[in-house]
Amino acid sequence: MQKIPFSKVSCNGNELKYITEVLESGWLTTAGKALKFEELFAQKVGTKHACAVNSCTAALHLGLEALGVGAGDKVFVPDMTFTATTEVVRYLGADPVFLDVEYGTTLITPAILEKGIAENPDVKYLIVVHFGGQAAEMVNSDNTGIADICKKYGIKVMEDAAHAFPATINGRTIGSIGDITCFSFYANKTITTGEGGMLTTDDEDIYKRVKVMRLHGINRDVWDRFTSDKPSWEYDVVAPGYKYNMPDLNAAIGLAQMEHADYFKTERIRIAEYYNTHLAACEWIDMPVCKVGMSEHAWHLYPVVLNEKSTVARNTFIEKMSAAGIGTSVHYKPLHRMTYYRETYDLKPSDFPVAEKIWQGNVSLPIFPEMTDEQLAHVCKTIIDIQAGKL
Ligand SMILES: *Cc1c(COP(=O)(O)O)cnc(C)c1O
Repeated sequence: MQKIPFSKVSCNGNELKYITEVLESGWLTTAGKALKFEELFAQKVGTKHACAVNSCTAALHLGLEALGVGAGDKVFVPDMTFTATTEVVRYLGADPVFLDVEYGTTLITPAILEKGIAENPDVKYLIVVHFGGQAAEMVNSDNTGIADICKKYGIKVMEDAAHAFPATINGRTIGSIGDITCFSFYANKTITTGEGGMLTTDDEDIYKRVKVMRLHGINRDVWDRFTSDKPSWEYDVVAPGYKYNMPDLNAAIGLAQMEHADYFKTERIRIAEYYNTHLAACEWIDMPVCKVGMSEHAWHLYPVVLNEKSTVARNTFIEKMSAAGIGTSVHYKPLHRMTYYRETYDLKPSDFPVAEKIWQGNVSLPIFPEMTDEQLAHVCKTIIDIQAGKL
């Protein structure tokens, strides 16, 4: 029986070559490779500045800090996301205000945001998640997108683009729209550095603050301290910062991955198109609704929802898939069901009817660049056989 993992990293390019260069250079932490990675990344997403850090969570934390979020502030977050999106709000002593999402896309829409603002006029920040790799409607042709709404109400917006590299929305590249965008290079994301993240911004002040805070609040980069003519001990501390810089060992992997980013994306589109075609007739599956063009979507995930016509419950379905050698995952168990958020904010399932409906049947199918058509055929046949009671 063939084993098909839920996701699989592709490291068949220059990863080893660039890592070797780092090892031979004798400088393993942040230096030239990280700088080059930042430069290439900023170019790729069309933004002025990119700051490499050691995780997307770090980028989200630094981003909120640079936006000025502090104790007592409130931040809109989607209910359907990874806890990292929301824990960073708590790092700063602020409080999340959870928004339900749209069925089919699992995104926050302009309408959902407008409703949230009407009910919570004191919220001045928003974190948008580009779920699964499809961008939320940040901008549109009649200027009623999420970014426009935020501008109108004086809300600062940070994008959690952990799933969305590379992606676009209505002709704009993700990474170049909101005040701040954060990307993840965790092992299972569309490109990886093992662990790592990137923050992009066009704002000079945000960039300066993030650069200082990612390295202890020191006013000089570590690399600068050891390469410039000024003595390395001569630095000032302007704030109690964090230790979030990206080591060159990780940046080396990132540089090699960047060279294949477009190829990875093409392969992910191929897989998504296969599922779109071969599962379209399954009335027990609600397919992911794609509002953007296939090539605008980063296809980090292929999330489906088993609806009320399904002959098996989600958990049984996952067990049967696993027994057939196929890995799946769930994105996500909504935050209102997590003990900490539920108890701290007194959240009730009835406040999040859409997230609840998704949660009853959500399953993410395998998607990774090296997945073959034969493997895809096996996944689709297995799904159909499970529903027919044959497995
Ligand atoms: C993976 C992920 C993160 C965290 O990324 P790390 O690089 O592991 O810190 C944040 N938000 C979302 C939506 C994610 O999927």
